[in-house]
Amino acid sequence: MTYSGFYAHFEKIAMKQVRSLSFRNHQDIPDGDYAFMPMYCDDKTCDCRRAIIAVLQVSPEFRVGQVATISYGWEAMSFYRKWSHGMPEDMLKIFKGPALDYMNIQSPHAEALLESFITTALDAVYIERLKKQYAMFKHKQGMKMTPELLKLVGIYEPCPCGSGKVFNLCCGKKKFSERFGRRR
Ligand SMILES: [Zn+2]
Ligand SMILES: [Zn+2]
Repeated sequence: MTYSGFYAHFEKIAMKQVRSLSFRNHQDIPDGDYAFMPMYCDDKTCDCRRAIIAVLQVSPEFRVGQVATISYGWEAMSFYRKWSHGMPEDMLKIFKGPALDYMNIQSPHAEALLESFITTALDAVYIERLKKQYAMFKHKQGMKMTPELLKLVGIYEPCPCGSGKVFNLCCGKKKFSERFGRRR
């Protein structure tokens, strides 16, 4: 599975929706601003209902670096159990999360950042946002959408970038080749 950033496909919306936390004099986390950048799986046949969240630190000297990677799936464990066709239970737990994804970048502060993320950033509003972003992302990639996912996208609703156009004619617009397939 490969993942790409929501911002790579929806720059304007991503900039409006980014969550961040600031720390000064925290016992386990170096000073700085920390931005949570969701990524989703690129496979348009894969309905994995999960975000990989890269945590970027912007230090007081404005150096930027990835310091943690969080896995978060919002469905119940039973969903992932069925979806994965027999992934071992301890791997499934990480997959569902919220947990550190050890296949990706971590730093010595990753555990503390995960804890702050769970207690202060991962609220109901943010979870709904991740679900919606996931649906938008998959829609743009051309995944076959279930009615449930299509409803989440809200293709005829005003685009969250604030343009005033509906999503399907704005940031959700697909390229001609994606919509109709390549001509031979
Ligand atoms: Zn996937
Ligand atoms: Zn838009």
